[in-house]
Amino acid sequence: MTRPRRSSARKTPAGSGRSRTGRALAAARRSRAGRAVAERPWLGLVALGFLVVVAVLAGRMGAEQRPVEPFRVVESADSAKPLAPEPGQPHRPRAAPSVPKEAPEAPEPMPQVVQPAPSQTVQAPAPVAPKPPTAAPAAAPEEAQVAVLPPPPAPPDGVPLWRRNAVPAPVPDGRPRVVIVIDDMGLDRKRSARIAALPGPLTLAWLPYSRDLPAQAVAARRRGHELIVHVPMEPGGGENPGPNALLTRLPPEELRRRLVANLASFEGYVGINNHMGSRFTADREGMAVVLAELSARGLLFLDSRTTAETRAPELGRVYRLPVLSRDVFLDHTQTRDGVAAALAKLEEAARRDGLAIAIGHPHDVTAAALEAWLPTLESRGLQLIPLSAAVRQNGEGS
Ligand SMILES: [Zn+2]
Repeated sequence: MTRPRRSSARKTPAGSGRSRTGRALAAARRSRAGRAVAERPWLGLVALGFLVVVAVLAGRMGAEQRPVEPFRVVESADSAKPLAPEPGQPHRPRAAPSVPKEAPEAPEPMPQVVQPAPSQTVQAPAPVAPKPPTAAPAAAPEEAQVAVLPPPPAPPDGVPLWRRNAVPAPVPDGRPRVVIVIDDMGLDRKRSARIAALPGPLTLAWLPYSRDLPAQAVAARRRGHELIVHVPMEPGGGENPGPNALLTRLPPEELRRRLVANLASFEGYVGINNHMGSRFTADREGMAVVLAELSARGLLFLDSRTTAETRAPELGRVYRLPVLSRDVFLDHTQTRDGVAAALAKLEEAARRDGLAIAIGHPHDVTAAALEAWLPTLESRGLQLIPLSAAVRQNGEGS
């Protein structure tokens, strides 16, 4: 009568042992204990008690370890991904100081904080931590995440620079408004001068590496044109954007340094737009560095929209600066008919939307077309405004 009860009682704890270790341990002990019990029946009770304790302990250990596994997989997968090891990156070494709670075999530190929120673990891995005021974004360029972007700067004191450097704009009178931007100004001095001689206010985008740029820009500003910096950015293809170009592979500090160098090439501008830049303007982390800096300086950004993947509009809301967007390219087709068709498209867009922004270049065909078209604006019922006035019309920054 004692035997069947004991064996069934033994089975229960062994069978309920949830881990493999528990079961193996229990089985080993059972066979040895079986023989011992046959000789000395009182041993059975002692062995039974021991088995229960072992089984309970084994079960608890198994239960504690199990949930840890998925998090560790996620963590190590992410921390094994520093693709762009920039030596001076502040946020990489930051992974080290996090508490290496019990990490039995993997050397990766396991920040315990992450565990309670498994859904966030996937979204925002290691880089959640860094929060210096002008933080450098993550080194891994392709995985853009909100958590690694620089924080929005405090709004500049007083009137932002883009307003202070704006040229006087005609009072809005209900007519459709057009903005004419001419890119690539400064390199070809003769053609640039021809553009600057047009009736304004045009918006002229100067390449920072042009010779005698301050003198050229000041002369254009005196003629009533608004100025922006035409910042070279990484294209999608193999073209060379020029010196000090913003490239997606550069670390944030170098990006900022190059942007600042470009901004130092002359004075009196209201903001920047991108020279080339199909690849760069689609890069969220790089663009975040640029727009954060522009916002801190009170400047605006005109998106030339060389790619539909541009990150400028969404980041403009994050960094609270005016972001405008090109509607029409004037000289995609560099023929008289091509430019005329583009001007017609611009006019149509302005009548439809109330405002349209065109970008052209200092080509002879473009200059000639504008020389003929600009004097007809009054009769067409259009109003020519500088870029900054387009911001005022749309409501700043949003
Ligand atoms: Zn350009």
